[in-house]
Amino acid sequence: MGYVRVAPEQSIDLAPSGLTYAVPRSLAPLRPGNRVTVPLGRGNRSVAGFVIEAMAEPDLDPTLIKPVLQCDPGHPPLTDDLIALARWMAGYYCCPLGMVVAAMIPAAVKRRTGTVAMRRVVRAAEPPEGTLTALQRRIMETTAEGQAQGVTSWEMRELADKAGARTVGAVRRLVEKGWLCLQEETVVRARHDPLDEVGSPAPHVAIEPNRDQNEVISAVVGDLPQGFSVHLLHGVTGSGKTEVYLQIMACIVDGDPEASAVMLVPEIALTPQTVRRIVERFDAVAVLHSGLTAAQRHEQWQRIRSGRARVVVGARSAVFAPLPKPALIVVDEEHDTSYKQDQLPRYHARDVAIKRGQLLGIPVILGSATPSLESYHNAKTAPPERRYRLHNLPRRVAGRSLPTVEIVDMNEQRRRRHSATGSRAIHLLSLELESAMTSVLADRGQLLLLLNRRGYASHVGCPDPQCGWQLQCEFCDVALVYHKQAALPVGGFVRCHHCGSEQLLPAQCPECRAHRIVKFGPGTQRVEEELAKKFPAARALRMDADTMRRGRDYIDTLARFGRGEADILLGTQMIAKGLDFPNVQLVGVISADTALHLPDFRAAERTFQMVAQVAGRAGRGEKAGHVIVQTSSPEDVAIGLAARHDYAGFADAELTLRAQVGLPPSARMARIVVRHRDATRCAAEAGALTTALEAMNQRLGLSVVVRGPDPCPIRRIADHHRQQIEIIAAPPGAGGRLQRLMTALRNAGVLRADARTAVDVDPVALM
Ligand code: ADP
Ligand code: ZN
Ligand code: ZN
Repeated sequence: MGYVRVAPEQSIDLAPSGLTYAVPRSLAPLRPGNRVTVPLGRGNRSVAGFVIEAMAEPDLDPTLIKPVLQCDPGHPPLTDDLIALARWMAGYYCCPLGMVVAAMIPAAVKRRTGTVAMRRVVRAAEPPEGTLTALQRRIMETTAEGQAQGVTSWEMRELADKAGARTVGAVRRLVEKGWLCLQEETVVRARHDPLDEVGSPAPHVAIEPNRDQNEVISAVVGDLPQGFSVHLLHGVTGSGKTEVYLQIMACIVDGDPEASAVMLVPEIALTPQTVRRIVERFDAVAVLHSGLTAAQRHEQWQRIRSGRARVVVGARSAVFAPLPKPALIVVDEEHDTSYKQDQLPRYHARDVAIKRGQLLGIPVILGSATPSLESYHNAKTAPPERRYRLHNLPRRVAGRSLPTVEIVDMNEQRRRRHSATGSRAIHLLSLELESAMTSVLADRGQLLLLLNRRGYASHVGCPDPQCGWQLQCEFCDVALVYHKQAALPVGGFVRCHHCGSEQLLPAQCPECRAHRIVKFGPGTQRVEEELAKKFPAARALRMDADTMRRGRDYIDTLARFGRGEADILLGTQMIAKGLDFPNVQLVGVISADTALHLPDFRAAERTFQMVAQVAGRAGRGEKAGHVIVQTSSPEDVAIGLAARHDYAGFADAELTLRAQVGLPPSARMARIVVRHRDATRCAAEAGALTTALEAMNQRLGLSVVVRGPDPCPIRRIADHHRQQIEIIAAPPGAGGRLQRLMTALRNAGVLRADARTAVDVDPVALM
């Protein structure tokens, strides 16, 4: 009898490398990656799990070992490299192994959504010469040709079409005669192929890479024989980075008939535009994103697992694409925070991609116009510590220039408007932005307006500073956001963006009862209203989490804008990402200050990225682009450097600053958040954890800095109080020391990732 180690698919941290079970003869042999059902605990509850390891001998008393109950038939869903990756993730991110493995496989695959039993035609016997009509002969020949190429079954209609028959009658006749027969097969069927939804791709037109692009391509291709390598491609917006990825991908899949490539893009950048470019270039493409139906996801995933897809393009979780022979992983817009998952397992897809590349011995390419300081640091560190190769594309393609960026001081605007009109009314659009918009619209050009704040107003309160009342969520320590909705009696409602609770708006301040309440902190809805007033003839589309409820909305809106059915695209951060619309001549940033004052050490980095990225959407066509950035902090360094397209200047200064104060990327960080309904118990638990952490730190002599416990910047969410502990390891050997501490705490049972404790290694958000 054989034995296996199984990781049950649940959140309890049972055993770091799984539990041992016996394999009954009827199920033998089980392979790593098989999905099984096993009995768990005293009550022998049936739970699903994955085989992590097969063993000939038991590793504990055989009389204590329970048997595996069931095994899903078909392909083992996981490849060996993914199992190795899951083990690394479970250790690195302090997450139960079974949960990591479960996260690697879409729910639709586990549930087998869209599986149908179908009768398909297979060859049964060879008909003797001269007994068939010409059409029947053609059909038999078609099946023989198919078989030679490894296709063994067909749908009746599909076979008739292939053989050029108008009806399925001839196929039926061959079945009646016994030369073909019908066989029941289970297949995954989605109603529509998601690749058809991107519109009909144009025939691929080869692009001749320019000198800068060629240099990068040959450097990466030259490194291929080395196996694992990491390349950071820093290319300004519109410099042809995507073209570089495509050329390298083509080189890899053309050079080896089994090799395949994965390209990760932020969910929001996974537009038909991107997909179309890839479908035009490659034959066997699979996509994985949140806009797919469950059946589509299952079907795409099976295509990948069975080796029918050579190129996979997908969002975060596509880093787990179960390709039989991956040969390259590309992470586009590698700085994007959507690569970090904010629930268990709290992994960063970029870092997981690099680890997977290392396990497979294949190259990984990271690309961005504004690389994360983590990646830039890794590429800039002096050898032999240097881990990434840095490549630059400093110019836009085809001699196009980067847009000119103008910074407008909104404090001065207010003074100017006041002295000109005597009115203190708030104007969201500066005179400069208004006049630039007027001339672009007159020229039939298009423009983007960014305001990274949704709703109508971010705060509602009393206008009297003496009173100072503000409307707060009942369950969270945050202000409620006002959303306008004309159909409601008071014209709108307030909603909490953290727990989703809603309230009606009071008409009067409930504290002093002396004032009508006011709304401040304008959001996208408010901008939309101002556009309707000032540019009534312009056609505007608004794109934010409130108007984009489903993946399809996003795709449809961009398609409409791309077809020129609107002049203005107004939105949150969503519109800053990867869009390539040649007719966009103007980009207006309504306020560059939305991220500037967040209590997060990456506030400057986020501000730089937002301004540089949205600016990069302008001037991608024949006409030059212009960008107007409105701010109340015109002296801000990050905004100034973004306006001058000076990434290196920003990154070097910011890296020096971070090193001085001992923050990532040179130092490494983990953050633990303890939640509890009771404030005192929350603080007590966080305090006890901190003490245990400190003790372990001392005992192992790791000199890791433990900060806290402190209340989180948002002290309470969904009626749970929150306390944080920050763990920071300074160089040298920062990553190693941090990991040793976390592992020791976990092994000692001190640290458990559960509903009350969130462990976040390499956190990207600190609220
Ligand atoms: P990025 O990813 O850096 O923003 P893209 O690869 O999307 O840039 O390129 C921007 C545009 O320029 C695309 O429309 C692309 O087809 C085109 N392009 C890319 N490389 C070249 C080239 N060498 N010559 C002409 N056009 C190019
Ligand atoms: Zn709330
Ligand atoms: Zn008041």
